[in-house]
Amino acid sequence: MSALAELLLAHYDDNARDLPWRVGPKSSPSKQINPYHIWLSEIMLQQTMVSTVIPYFEKFIALWPDFSALAAADEGAIMAAWAGLGYYARARNLVKCARAVHSDYDGVLPQEEDELRKLPGIGDYTAAAIASIAFGKRALVMDANIERVVARIYEISTPLPRAKIEMKAVLHDITPQARAGDFAQAMMDLGASLCSVKNPKCDQCPIYELCKAGQSDTASSYPVKAAKKAKPMRSGMAWWIEYDGKILLVKRDEKSMLGAMMALPDDGWNARQDGDAMLKIALNDAHIGKIMQHEAFVQHSFTHFSLKLKLTSIELVQNDAFDKQMSEKAVWWPIKDIEQAGLPSLFAKALTIKDDNEKGMK
Ligand code: SF4
Repeated sequence: MSALAELLLAHYDDNARDLPWRVGPKSSPSKQINPYHIWLSEIMLQQTMVSTVIPYFEKFIALWPDFSALAAADEGAIMAAWAGLGYYARARNLVKCARAVHSDYDGVLPQEEDELRKLPGIGDYTAAAIASIAFGKRALVMDANIERVVARIYEISTPLPRAKIEMKAVLHDITPQARAGDFAQAMMDLGASLCSVKNPKCDQCPIYELCKAGQSDTASSYPVKAAKKAKPMRSGMAWWIEYDGKILLVKRDEKSMLGAMMALPDDGWNARQDGDAMLKIALNDAHIGKIMQHEAFVQHSFTHFSLKLKLTSIELVQNDAFDKQMSEKAVWWPIKDIEQAGLPSLFAKALTIKDDNEKGMK
């Protein structure tokens, strides 16, 4: 084992983060590695911080304790439980993956990276992380934290994402055969603690003596990133349509952004174009009571674009808000229970525009 791996593992043994899915050096001997927990946590952690993931992880394992339970669950309930965690394609793939593990692998997750990669929602990183952490395989695990640590140890000056090939090569050299899962988690922990993006604490780092950037006091210069393109700003409209203490919610098209989630009706905005400010549900003018376009708007950032979403509220005096082709996908939801609807953050934020407006009028 390399000197670097030895130092890092010794540090991990004393300082590993206590995480609900992790079996670490200080875990109770009765706690066993659970591949379902490792898989679930790794899917949730894609693009999301540990502190945000923990309550969702605990909710999911309480509701659906294994692959078979998750495979049998109603997709709408899973999407609602995921609401607020973002990147909703992960939730749709979560359902598909659980069903594939249940039907094709008797509810037991495969151990090899190649097999794992065949499952929905599992790419190179996640396959490597599961293979090493859940099954102890020597796999090259490289998330953003590990990229930063590797770039600093070796002062890799090639900009990301091009630098990934170089980073993989050095990771190959330093990943040990034994305790590969602990090594990956030790690297993740180092990146999440001492080797943070800002103000790394090199003076407390267990591998300071072996780290080029630490030695030359240049850690903050790594990893080098390619210049970012500015995100386009899209605009859209959502509608609060209310009747008799209920609000009209629609299930979004499976293939659209936030697909299969419950949402407010909107005007068809997407990553490539603005919405057309037209409601896609036919309303009978004679049944419209109060209508109001709110001044305030929500600004929300997606991976490739930002969205400025405005809200129009409509109070109906009769309940025929949607036409027949919409009726299967639409539901009248009690306003008092709106928090249980599992709306994605964008629409949950849009609802506050109406609340704020009403408070302002009082
Ligand atoms: S010495 Fe500094 S830059 Fe190097 S790994 Fe440790 S914290 Fe990161």
